[in-house]
Amino acid sequence: MTRLARLTRAAALSLLISGFACSRAPAPQPWPAGTLVDLSHDYSEQTVFWPTAESFKLEKVADGMTEQGYYYAANNFATSEHGGTHIDAPVHFAKGHQSVDQIPLDRLVGPALVVDVTMQSARQPDYQVTTEDFAQWERANGQIAAGSIVLIRTGYSSRWPDAARYLGTAERGADAVAKLHFPGLHPDAARWLVEKHINAVGLDTASIDYGQSKLFESHRILYERDIPAFENLTNLDRLPARGATIVALPMKIKGGTGAPLRALAVVP
Ligand SMILES: [Zn+2]
Repeated sequence: MTRLARLTRAAALSLLISGFACSRAPAPQPWPAGTLVDLSHDYSEQTVFWPTAESFKLEKVADGMTEQGYYYAANNFATSEHGGTHIDAPVHFAKGHQSVDQIPLDRLVGPALVVDVTMQSARQPDYQVTTEDFAQWERANGQIAAGSIVLIRTGYSSRWPDAARYLGTAERGADAVAKLHFPGLHPDAARWLVEKHINAVGLDTASIDYGQSKLFESHRILYERDIPAFENLTNLDRLPARGATIVALPMKIKGGTGAPLRALAVVP
């Protein structure tokens, strides 16, 4: 072997070694960068549903060893669309508008901001979030940008799953609806958010309109503009006022007016 050949071989070998070392380090960057926060309640017999909505049911189909010697488990489940942590599709209150499967994914993933009204809600169970609450948020944090996902934190999630405290009544059926007391979004504030061209709105109570609402105006104002709502969220206390990213993906029910929602936030 000539000196040149030896050198070339040594260079090739060291390249190979350094290449190998490179492939081992640096460690791949985790994605996404930040802490993941689960914004969904689980579904069980305890899950809170609207007084007139069928509750969640889980039926065991199999749970045990098969004749072939392996373990196997499976269930059936049934639920109404609007219970637990769920999405309201625009068609829920706006005829001809998007159903769950038609909501564009880019509405359900994006920058989240959290407006904290826990003080107001603790004092007044019939509290309606005002335009002034949002204006105050803007004074502290800057303008609410188009495409934002606006989350309202009333603190009611801490009452879950105690229906009497969370909804204002644990009674079921049509007569219970008049007894609902929990905070929601005032229709004027809903109109104000529409003008901001937000992507979606969410909160930690059972409905985007407050419990005593008779006309569900905030629902109608938002959904006529194809702005969906997330209801019965949790863990909003773990998010900053701004800077988190939300991923809120519902079960893709064709023609659904709502659906169970698995929502999470990435907090940098
Ligand atoms: Zn709903």
